[in-house]
Amino acid sequence: MALTGLDIFKLLPKTNCKKCGMPTCLAFAMALAQKRAKLDDCPDVSQEAKDKLAAAAAPPMRKVVFGAGEAEVRIGQETVVFRHEEKFHSPTVLGATVSDKLGGDELTKRIEAVNALQFERVGTKIGAGAVAVVNDSGSPDSFAKTATAVKENCELAMILVSDSPEAMAAAVAQVKDAVPLLSHASLDTVSKMAKIAKDNGCPLVAKAKSIEDLAELSEKIKAEGVEDIVLSLESPGLREKLFDHSKVRLLGLKKVFRPLGYPMISFVTDGDADAQAASAISLICKYSGVVIVDTVEQYAFLAMLTTVMNVFTDPQKPVQVEPKVYPIGEPDQNSPVMFTTNFSLTYYTVESDVEASRIPSYILVVDTEGTSVLTAYSGDKLNEKTVADAMAKFGVEDLVKHRKLIIPGYVAVMSGKLEEATNWEVMVGPRECSMLPKYLQEVWN
Ligand code: SF4
Repeated sequence: MALTGLDIFKLLPKTNCKKCGMPTCLAFAMALAQKRAKLDDCPDVSQEAKDKLAAAAAPPMRKVVFGAGEAEVRIGQETVVFRHEEKFHSPTVLGATVSDKLGGDELTKRIEAVNALQFERVGTKIGAGAVAVVNDSGSPDSFAKTATAVKENCELAMILVSDSPEAMAAAVAQVKDAVPLLSHASLDTVSKMAKIAKDNGCPLVAKAKSIEDLAELSEKIKAEGVEDIVLSLESPGLREKLFDHSKVRLLGLKKVFRPLGYPMISFVTDGDADAQAASAISLICKYSGVVIVDTVEQYAFLAMLTTVMNVFTDPQKPVQVEPKVYPIGEPDQNSPVMFTTNFSLTYYTVESDVEASRIPSYILVVDTEGTSVLTAYSGDKLNEKTVADAMAKFGVEDLVKHRKLIIPGYVAVMSGKLEEATNWEVMVGPRECSMLPKYLQEVWN
């Protein structure tokens, strides 16, 4: 459990010397408990007190790393239940299964399909981060062979999925340098699975039917010497699983209940691609550090990855692009010039519509602190002065010989003042940038 202000106070020098900037040691202790102060602010605190406070201040959720080299992924280390309290830190790792019943061409095709789950969205590369080799055959030999084939042909972090300690040992022996996540230990297999994980330096999934069993299991795994644990709940349905995940998260973070202070993994294998994507998206929102699905449909992954991208952005910091002039195609001195804001989603939407027009253009990106056109305008971050300043700063006058500036239709109201501030003729573009290709081809041309 986290230390209270009074617990912390007992560990402080109690001299009320004020060197920390607080009037008393008690005030400092209370501020520390509420995370409004840092222990380093007290120069006189003893080493013993530092050690005790550091142990109590350890993150409530452990960080777990698996995969090796470029494939390494990090999950856990979350600090809040709700994103708006701060932000979520470790984006959910998405992956697809590869059954050890596959062989020959089928196995090759499946691995290729998993490898192809990579995309680019709003200028960022996103994609599957894990591949789960599943011991459907029950055979240790097949499991080991499939794991080896996956290791040789897929560069994603590996998860080995088997109930059988014998099969797990056989597969890990072949791929242990890939640092796979081992899934899973149950209350029946905990000693054997924990030994395999410990001997090979791999993290281990604890899988149980109830939260109580899960807490007991994670304690047993820890007692066997495995520190890196991932939790898996066998809830009867999605509804129950979402409830259970919320309870685990609350107990782990708010109550600092250490047996549940680990990231969670979910396997979604029922239903078609649409159903799997819908369930996976719910589980991304409700605290799964890893979600493994059976489908390798690209559209399903794109929806899941987009969810991860949105949930794991900092809500206080919009995703931004660098303010500057972006040439689209190979513009010349007669090319159109338009502006938009540095909110990533806005910029990349405009960029793709301008590209679609096939008319080489310049897009001036104005720094609006990552807000969209209307938000920036209503917050006075997008006005005739900020646009004129950006035009001067990035040398827009030197790029073209005409003096015509296309502005977003939503801010047509700033036309007059903008013409006065820049001496450029303002052309009001369409409200929706999806109409830009038509506008550029019919109005500009
Ligand atoms: Fe107390 Fe340390 Fe602050 Fe001095 S610096 S008042 S000893 S907490």
